[in-house]
Amino acid sequence: MSTDSGIDRARLRTLAERERATFADRHPRSRAAYGKADHLFGRVPMTWMNKTSAGFPIYLDKAWGNRIVDVDGNEFVDLCLGDTGAMAGHSPEPVVAAVTERIKGGLATMLPTEDAAVAGAELAARFGLPAWSFALTATDANRWAIRLLRAVTGRSKILVNSYCYHGSVDESLIVVGPDGNGQSREGNVGAPVDVTRTSRVAEFNDLVGLERELANGDVAAVLMEPALTNIGIVLPEDGYLAGVRELTRKYGTYLINDETHTFSAGPGGATAAWGLKPDVVTIGKAIGGGVPVGAYGLSAELAEALTGRGDLDLVDMGGVGGTLAGNPVSMAATRATLQEVLTEAAFAHMIETASAFADGIQKIIEGYGLPWSVSRLGARVEYRFANPAPRNGTESAASADGELEDFLHVYLANRGVLLTPFHNMALMCPTTSAADVARHHEIFDRALAELL
Ligand code: PMP
Repeated sequence: MSTDSGIDRARLRTLAERERATFADRHPRSRAAYGKADHLFGRVPMTWMNKTSAGFPIYLDKAWGNRIVDVDGNEFVDLCLGDTGAMAGHSPEPVVAAVTERIKGGLATMLPTEDAAVAGAELAARFGLPAWSFALTATDANRWAIRLLRAVTGRSKILVNSYCYHGSVDESLIVVGPDGNGQSREGNVGAPVDVTRTSRVAEFNDLVGLERELANGDVAAVLMEPALTNIGIVLPEDGYLAGVRELTRKYGTYLINDETHTFSAGPGGATAAWGLKPDVVTIGKAIGGGVPVGAYGLSAELAEALTGRGDLDLVDMGGVGGTLAGNPVSMAATRATLQEVLTEAAFAHMIETASAFADGIQKIIEGYGLPWSVSRLGARVEYRFANPAPRNGTESAASADGELEDFLHVYLANRGVLLTPFHNMALMCPTTSAADVARHHEIFDRALAELL
């Protein structure tokens, strides 16, 4: 849905056209590379890379810390950070060193390395759950956690929040429809069955709606982010997360916190920052410093219940696990990232930088009298074209404005700043500096001055 967001549409279109032309002029090699990629589906290695505000993607030459240089030699301050995959910064030195060493001694052996146990202990200390297992993506961590909880409960359904994102997990592609009932999310590709057969849905911040759904007694697990981060940042209201925990316990439903993005809240994600007590934590992306990895952590009770189940094939083709999961390189990278890069001190710096980022955006928005709002989750900041800030996914989806977003993204890219293509998200890594924040704000201010 598109709103008028407080701006003149005709002016927006004229400026956007000018910026797209500038972008094309500044990126001749990227444009040519895109033109030549005839044997890639959609001309890109993965279809999402076509999510670009400028007509074609920037091609990577190299990246380090919070900097990217493209094949045309343009340098960017990167506030996208691979949509969180590089929250530790691009190619952090301890990860490069650990991976370089490990890579010389075997890549895909399907044998454990000692790094995995260290990484597991580190995750246990941070998130408060004792038993960890690894995947290659957060999507798979979620899929496997869902299977395990269905097996333990004997219940068929999973409940998620409307407009959540948990990876390409079939059960999660459900939203609250206009009639208040669950329906398939728009654009859901090739759903195996009607999603209402596998899933229930409630709005974020809606305990009444959650209880109504859980009372059916068929929900194995609530899979949720402690704050929504994939439809803008939607923060929990006071008492909401405690209410979720209480209701899930009341109805015998397990609670999975997906910390893949909310990890930005601190060294132990929102779980530790807000004292949450989920039964399972799932995570991926950033914990490997950019090397593919996902993970799920189980409570002692769950680990024990599952270990005792002789009917569940957990060591072969029962539907949980994968050939390359837990590989030596992912484990070396995860150990190095957690122990040496995304440390407590690094988070303190990232969160301070993000606070300055959010404050600056707020001042600029107020200066122009725009009806927009800013939300921050630790090291992650996002602004939405609505004020007050949306309370749930449906409200946040309704405040989207693709045209305006695209204009701001191209305007910033043309002046050396990258935002996450999917939204107005800015993420800080350990090397993001106050000067980088100031640079973003100066360009953002100029964009609004031209627009308004
Ligand atoms: N969970 C959350 C909260 C996410 O934001 C994402 C990806 N954006 C995923 C899971 C899936 O991650 P991946 O694509 O790496 O599997």
